[in-house]
Amino acid sequence: MQDGHREKLENRLVPLQLYKLTPKTNCGECGFATCLAFATQVIVGQGDLGACPYLDEEALQPFQAQLEDQHKAGIGLKREGFEKALTFLRGEIKKWNFADIAESLGARLTAERKETGLELSYLGRPVRVTSDDITSAVGDELSPWEKIFLYNYVIGGAVAPSGSWVGMESFPNSISKIKSLKEHCEMRLADSFAGKMSGLPALVAPLGRNVSHEHEDVDFAAEFQILPRLTIRILWWDEEPAEGFEAKTKFLFDANALSTLDLESLLFACEQVTDRLLDRLHE
Ligand code: SF4
Repeated sequence: MQDGHREKLENRLVPLQLYKLTPKTNCGECGFATCLAFATQVIVGQGDLGACPYLDEEALQPFQAQLEDQHKAGIGLKREGFEKALTFLRGEIKKWNFADIAESLGARLTAERKETGLELSYLGRPVRVTSDDITSAVGDELSPWEKIFLYNYVIGGAVAPSGSWVGMESFPNSISKIKSLKEHCEMRLADSFAGKMSGLPALVAPLGRNVSHEHEDVDFAAEFQILPRLTIRILWWDEEPAEGFEAKTKFLFDANALSTLDLESLLFACEQVTDRLLDRLHE
């Protein structure tokens, strides 16, 4: 390893340094529900430093230059970036009293070998949260991104769903995420199921529940429980070649979803559901 690169690695910026520069008000204007989520995602290259209007420009200048430099060198963007972010989040979670937050998260308080933890359902499978790690309770591997998503849910706290459904366009500062949602999820699902929608109820059944009766003028609608306080709905309209209509899908969120998770995390949840549905289609 070259000395310059080693030095950059050793001195790389971590989320806590950016978090300290934010006002810690969790106002959400940057598109993330908390200043902590903003700091974490910017450091791993998934958020825009300019999205927070409350950062002190003078304090930010050297920080910004160093962050650009480390991203150009590939530091913090890939595996090591996830590990840095996870190290930071593991440190943050140690500050929480699980007994205080279990109920609001829809999680079960557990005690193993005298260590208190939480167990909650993530896309239908149980995961365990302890002060050291987040792991699957059924033995499969969680990716670093899944862990960051779960940490954001636990650390950010959850708000009870309102029961009203809205599109991502209803959330502030969502323009770039709407584009990603269309490209990564809605178009892929529409194209993959065009002309095959009669098979959707059976294909969706192990992952979600059919809610077509709750939506007018759709060909199919399903609800997916991502986390105890986070549910996503997908609406499908099939193609009508004679009329010149292409197949279409739309993701809906509870109107309170942004109080539970930031936009990036909501997009991640949509991508997880999309991948699982496409995996089942291609099985
Ligand atoms: S815009 Fe984001 S980072 Fe800035 S104060 Fe608000 S929540 Fe925190």
